[in-house]
Amino acid sequence: MKILYLVIPCYNEMEVLPTTSRIFRKKIEDLVENHKISEQSKILFVDDGSKDDTWNIIQSLSEENDVFSGIRLSRNRGHQNALLAGLMEAKEDADVTISIDCDGQDDIEAIDRMLEEYDGGSEVVYGVRNDRQTDGFLKRESAQLFYRFMKVLGADIVYNHADYRLVSSKVLNELENFKEVNLFLRGMVPLVGFRSSCVYYERKSRMAGKTHYPLKRMLSLAFNGITSLSIRPLQMITCMGILISLLSFIGVFWSILVYLQGKTVSGWASMTCIVCFVSGVQMISLGIIGEYIGKMYLETKQRPRYIISEKTENKE
Ligand code: UDP
Ligand code: MG
Repeated sequence: MKILYLVIPCYNEMEVLPTTSRIFRKKIEDLVENHKISEQSKILFVDDGSKDDTWNIIQSLSEENDVFSGIRLSRNRGHQNALLAGLMEAKEDADVTISIDCDGQDDIEAIDRMLEEYDGGSEVVYGVRNDRQTDGFLKRESAQLFYRFMKVLGADIVYNHADYRLVSSKVLNELENFKEVNLFLRGMVPLVGFRSSCVYYERKSRMAGKTHYPLKRMLSLAFNGITSLSIRPLQMITCMGILISLLSFIGVFWSILVYLQGKTVSGWASMTCIVCFVSGVQMISLGIIGEYIGKMYLETKQRPRYIISEKTENKE
């Protein structure tokens, strides 16, 4: 019988954790009862350096019931790093992991279908939300735009899939060899390969607490996703450079022609326009190149992606 680990990153979630932890436990117990998973299956919380009572809640949960365990990061490292820490921790004992948010937004019933897909031979099962009615207008539109934009810019990700997914330990062992510090897991998992499938679910609204992903962080996630996965923006700059060079060539030709005709007094406006436009393009291009150099800088440092400071008793 397979051992399942639910990996759940939590950051300042004391409001919602008492409610959702009960739901998660119920699910695991049901699955064990129906002989779908081994009774050694666990719920692994990753406290991403919370500043509130989250770690205390995790600790008391683990004392209450063996199904709960937790690790605590030494400081807040963000959702992606916390998730990776949990997955790497779970990989040691689990045959299969499912990562899920702790706010109860992801429909827990999809787990059954994910496990069925796994039994059918899929090593990765993506949870894909089939509508976005529960999100606010801004979040919905920006998310939609995000996936389209990512596709255009060459980052291969599954449409409308966030980080609710089943991953087998086989895949995690390979994922471990992806050493990048700029993490964007939903783009990295497809790169690992193996057989995958999708399971559709409806995403609810948060049970309590509030989102950690306002527009600003969404934009930075999107930007990080693109520059971590693809070099297409750099290629686009090159193409743009070639195009503009061709145009300037025509421009030069044209200006010489006009000069020879002796009509070169006015022309200040066109000059200014060209200077403005070209310098703008140059600025953007430099910025994008700088972004990649910044990434390289961070990668060459090879800093640890997370540091575990504590574990619950039953995890050691
Ligand atoms: N999270 C985390 N570290 C952070 C921010 C968020 O571990 O720095 C966790 C959070 O506790 C939740 C999940 O990541 O379980 C998703 O966050 P949230 O629900 O705020 O994002 P949204 O669902 O609104 O996109
Ligand atoms: Mg959420």
